[in-house]
Amino acid sequence: MLALHGTGVGAGIAIGKARVISKPGDNIARYEVAEDDLNAELKRFKVGVENAIASLISAGEKFEDSIPEEVAALLETHSLILQDPMLQEETVKIIRDKNVNAEYALLIYQKRMQKVFDEIPDPYLSSKSADISQVIQRVQGALIESDESAEQSLNNQPDGAFDGEIIIANDLTPADTIALKKHQISGFLTNLGGPTSHTAILARSLQIPAIVGLHNALNLLRTGDLLIVDGKRGVILAGPDEVSLDAYRRRREKIIHRSQALETLREAESVSLDGQKVNLLSNVELPEEVALSVRQNAEGVGLYRTEFLFMNREELPDEEEQYQVYSEVLKSSDKSVTIRTLDLGADKQVDGGRVSESQGTNPALGLRAIRLCLHDLGLFKPHLRAIFRASVHGKTKLMVPMLSTVEELDQLFILIAEVKQELRAQGCEFDDAIPIGAMIEVPAAAVAADIFAHKLDFLSIGTNDLIQYTLAIDRIDDEVNYLYDPLHPSILRLVKMVIDAGKNANIPVSMCGEMAGEPEFTRVLLALGLREFSMDPASLLEVKQRILMSDIRLLEQALPAIMSEMEPGKLRQKVTALNQ
Ligand code: PEP
Ligand code: MG
Repeated sequence: MLALHGTGVGAGIAIGKARVISKPGDNIARYEVAEDDLNAELKRFKVGVENAIASLISAGEKFEDSIPEEVAALLETHSLILQDPMLQEETVKIIRDKNVNAEYALLIYQKRMQKVFDEIPDPYLSSKSADISQVIQRVQGALIESDESAEQSLNNQPDGAFDGEIIIANDLTPADTIALKKHQISGFLTNLGGPTSHTAILARSLQIPAIVGLHNALNLLRTGDLLIVDGKRGVILAGPDEVSLDAYRRRREKIIHRSQALETLREAESVSLDGQKVNLLSNVELPEEVALSVRQNAEGVGLYRTEFLFMNREELPDEEEQYQVYSEVLKSSDKSVTIRTLDLGADKQVDGGRVSESQGTNPALGLRAIRLCLHDLGLFKPHLRAIFRASVHGKTKLMVPMLSTVEELDQLFILIAEVKQELRAQGCEFDDAIPIGAMIEVPAAAVAADIFAHKLDFLSIGTNDLIQYTLAIDRIDDEVNYLYDPLHPSILRLVKMVIDAGKNANIPVSMCGEMAGEPEFTRVLLALGLREFSMDPASLLEVKQRILMSDIRLLEQALPAIMSEMEPGKLRQKVTALNQ
């Protein structure tokens, strides 16, 4: 039995068979091939080589007569290298001698050849090793594709193709994760990723037990391995014994019973012991999740992430399609829905190519969210029009992400005025009094929250990005996710500044980052003055339970000692003490 640790992101326990999926461009995984499976692996290698040759031929045919001479020569060279018996024989030998998978055997061969070429004094001849590398990558790509790349396998497979399996990948994009939804997978594991990456957020909202940031899961786990995934603790057991299986089955039952017990709180009003009302709302990524929000009796949708509508498709949705989808979302909720304008960029890329083209060297600090929208009015204006048109179907609020300057707000107001005028001129109905708010998720906006508060109808604290930008930790980088700390004094101070700014300007302040859905932080947030929490609907009842058992006046008395605590360990202890 092998135990691995990573960052648990989707709570719950999954027990199932592993399915390793590779994507072209991933690091080449090494896995052991059992003696009995060697012939099958050699056959797989042979098919990979044949497919690579076929792809070279079809590349040549594509150009037909117009093929430039140098390209024809290159294809010819690559074809000859591919058919070179040495490449094939040596790779077969490595597979046999080392009992490794074909892709990895090719990698070993490539390294050996590189060494030989590096020793050739003639720079021209030495540079020819690049051709061998490219050919090898082509075969590796063919092998991976024959296993079905994540994109192919996730998007083009029939529903439920991975029924009950636990997907293992180097990384999954948020778009991949949405595609996973239609397959009845029981969990997923990735080498990369952090706890507030959008992939992790989706895992939580889709209620898939998941662990990210495993670093080397691909090297250690194989398709077919029996796995236990503990999404809460971030633990994986591969090849578990009967005792562990039994223990985890019982724990899984317990978790299910606990969440069933919480169902009794569904209708309870969310009021603290000292009689203060706390609003609990939900975050939704996909329109169908609104149903869960309604079922959990949330006070509305505090964050609807519209950008997910733009993923996994060739063409971006036009105004009409957006109007239809937003209208459906509004109709399916009898309470208010806060529609967040597009937060594309960084880890949320779209297939239409529009966003990828504008990627800078540091996407999280680049043209993302409101910046991208103000830069691309062809994208933003139809989006705003669709939201305003849909607003007749329900109580709509509009919220912009990643605000950092007042000029952005001024531009936004001008655009909204233009959109309203156009709609009026066209005789389209819309709600003229939609509250306009912004996410406070850039430290600059938190520090200057008072300035923004006076211009807006509400604020919502996005702790996922606020923590990323304040602590300078890329939220999708598994190497630094150990630094993610919602209790860092800087974060508590910034959260307090925003809540106070809202109070002074007499506007509501909500929190929609993942911190709002973590019951361990509920009381410290209540003490800080937060009275509106928006979270993944599956966490709502647990947070409600905390509120029902909290006396906010007492919590407020404990706050000064927390805020003045200089030592992180002691600060954490004091926050933990609030929960006792
Ligand atoms: C946040 O940053 O906290 C947030 C809620 O937005 P997102 O996670 O979509 O960036
Ligand atoms: Mg954000």
